[in-house]
Amino acid sequence: MKNRSQKYVRRAVKVEDAQHAIRQHIRQANSEYISIDSCLHRTVSETLSSLECMPHFRRSGLDGYAVRSEDAESASPQDPACLKVIDEVPAGSVSSQTVVPGTAIRVMTGSAVPEGADAVVMFEQTEEYQQDGHDFIRVKHKVAYGQNVAKPGDEIKTGQPLMGAGTRIGPGQIALLASLGYEKVPVYRRPIVGVLMTGSELIAVGEPLQPGKIRNSNAYMLAAQIEQYGGLVAGFGTVPDDTANMGSTIHAALEKCDMLIVSGGVSVGDYDVMADFFAAANENGAELLFNKVAMRPGSPTSAAVINKKLVFGLSGNPGACFVGFELFVRPALLAMQGAERPLLSSIQAIIANDYNKGCPHDRYIRGVMTYSQQQVTVNALEKNSSSMLVSIPDANCLILIPSGSKGVSAGQIVTVFALPYEITKW
Ligand code: AMP
Ligand code: MG
Repeated sequence: MKNRSQKYVRRAVKVEDAQHAIRQHIRQANSEYISIDSCLHRTVSETLSSLECMPHFRRSGLDGYAVRSEDAESASPQDPACLKVIDEVPAGSVSSQTVVPGTAIRVMTGSAVPEGADAVVMFEQTEEYQQDGHDFIRVKHKVAYGQNVAKPGDEIKTGQPLMGAGTRIGPGQIALLASLGYEKVPVYRRPIVGVLMTGSELIAVGEPLQPGKIRNSNAYMLAAQIEQYGGLVAGFGTVPDDTANMGSTIHAALEKCDMLIVSGGVSVGDYDVMADFFAAANENGAELLFNKVAMRPGSPTSAAVINKKLVFGLSGNPGACFVGFELFVRPALLAMQGAERPLLSSIQAIIANDYNKGCPHDRYIRGVMTYSQQQVTVNALEKNSSSMLVSIPDANCLILIPSGSKGVSAGQIVTVFALPYEITKW
């Protein structure tokens, strides 16, 4: 029961100030080279520039004939240019012949345009015929210098920057890296994020329900959020609420991870071990960043630094735990992986339903936003309280209900933070 009174004396910091305090303690993850096969959604750790140009040879843009444009610069259906076909080049090959005046070489899309030729005429603008046992074509449309020929470097120049450090790798980046020969890609290591539960009421997912007990859903939800943002999960199980040695449990966990999230026990209840831990941060070898945030849900959300590693105390209430992760842990995790804008991005939207619950603090409620007629509309979900989780699966955003207000009415403009969970139905 020590520190009982201190639990109530907490100075609430603004959400932005709490995020700023966390930002000061980000240590970027080290780099590693990994196979291009497994780099999807990882983050590039150094600026990558092209060591080659693309295309790296003069490339035909279509199936046709490589010609000298001067041979057919005034060709027309009435006065076609007649050219002798001296070779053909399938894609992947090069011709040993040179296109000299009066000749053409048959090429395919992607073929190397032979020496001497400066343009490609599509098959459809030619007519093939034979004369004295040789193949000829009539070019029936005038040909311009360079037509249908991609020059070396047309798409990418040698030395051109491809992507900066902090770029998240998607299919487009993978295509670019593959085409330029990046078999190994430098990326930030995935930070290891520890997950520790507190709560004597928690039982494992596979156990039958018992009176007073609930299933531990936060461990799974947090693990999914960590993975969603590129972290690796280290599970440290559940400790009961009467744990006497929370400090040493946390120190031991931090030996095995880069950052730790503790769920539950940060509130003002009699058994809130994490509140005691943060209240006595110094004695626990920790530097307290904050132990109260001016927000709902999750006002007891806390953070500290131990041996340069962040420790988060999130509310055990699932709704608050979810929001606390998105507002405070997500930015830390992304910034460790080089993100320049790790905070949830906000947009303005029109709220479609009333939300009448006023609050002295900013409130982040779960909502569904939709785009139609160039307007973003948002609906506050039912069952939005901090203790409830049933609205989390449907939420694709957090709606900010500003402090001090009496809530918001339908039709009002609100700030909305997009979550990356938009697609729940294909
Ligand atoms: P606490 O933050 O420890 O005061 O927990 C608040 C409430 O959140 C508890 O009474 C539980 O109902 C719920 N809760 C705590 N931990 C978990 C968890 N791991 N999974 C799901 N619900 C939890
Ligand atoms: Mg608890």
